[in-house]
Amino acid sequence: MPSHDSLPTFRFALEESPARVMPGGTAREATIKQLPISTGLAGVSMTLKPGAIRELHWHAIAAEWAYVIRGNVRTTIVGPGGTCETNDFGSGDVWYFPRGHGHAIACLGSEECHFLLIFDNGAFSEFGTFSSTDWVGHIDADVLGRCLGVAPADLKGLAHEELYIVQGRPLPAVIEPNRGSELRPAPQTHRYPFMAQPPWETFPGGRQWRVTVDEFPISTTMSASLFELEPGAIREPHWHPHANEWQYVLEGTVRVGLFGSGGRARVEQLNAGDVGYAPRGYGHYIENCGDKMCKILVAFDSGQYQEISLSTWLSANPAGMVADNFQVPDALVDRWPKKRVFVADGNS
Ligand code: MN
Ligand code: MN
Repeated sequence: MPSHDSLPTFRFALEESPARVMPGGTAREATIKQLPISTGLAGVSMTLKPGAIRELHWHAIAAEWAYVIRGNVRTTIVGPGGTCETNDFGSGDVWYFPRGHGHAIACLGSEECHFLLIFDNGAFSEFGTFSSTDWVGHIDADVLGRCLGVAPADLKGLAHEELYIVQGRPLPAVIEPNRGSELRPAPQTHRYPFMAQPPWETFPGGRQWRVTVDEFPISTTMSASLFELEPGAIREPHWHPHANEWQYVLEGTVRVGLFGSGGRARVEQLNAGDVGYAPRGYGHYIENCGDKMCKILVAFDSGQYQEISLSTWLSANPAGMVADNFQVPDALVDRWPKKRVFVADGNS
């Protein structure tokens, strides 16, 4: 075997990493700093206690796609033209906030909530957001007083530094009206009940859910897929011509194989709470190597979903050419799949 440069790690143990801990919640992040290969996407695992608020903020360089793992969440968002929306989310629901739109996230109900935030820019740090407290706290009190129509002395109690997560009062079960008198409803909803949909496709070895810009029109820059795989089942080798892939293991244990050309290949095991990454165009597969069902969330930095599977590719060529290409007997190629496999079950 010739020697080759090896691929860098594509795994990061997000849930075992140090958290930013606030009285109202926690945040852990995976950016290019923690996982240098992940240039296209970054992610955050956040928990909020009941009534806690991830404060009003925006992101200058990334859109935000989120998946609720457990608990209930209420968000508010404002977009250009005075458009706004308030939404409630439960486990399996998804939101999308376009880059630069102002939003806030609060924990609804009496249980702590846990959600994943995924950003379409690997250099984006959740700890570098444009926060309302940070901003307003750095505006001259005289200017702020005139803009808010109060005396500067009345603003003495305002925070001067970013609060990030604040502990607020319990949220009412029913969505309250906002303070505005001239706002308009957002033309497109920011909420999609992802896991309330039937699976996109079912296989003997598992099931796949998908959400793209077609189902969730506001989500123009991101899409996602969620796999449930039986023990031994494999999401077959494939690649995505159009997008980078950011993976998060929700349940179980998987083995991911990544191929980066030039003889560079690497296999890593991802446990629940770990993040994985497959750069655009890199070949990869996901195998459930545990003894129970696994659940893995896969996000893309494109609104579309595209994939090319190995079985599809091999079937798109004449049998003799495939045999010659791999230097194997025709009889072996005869036994290979003649149509897309997508998920190979553990018994094949
Ligand atoms: Mn945000
Ligand atoms: Mn993939």
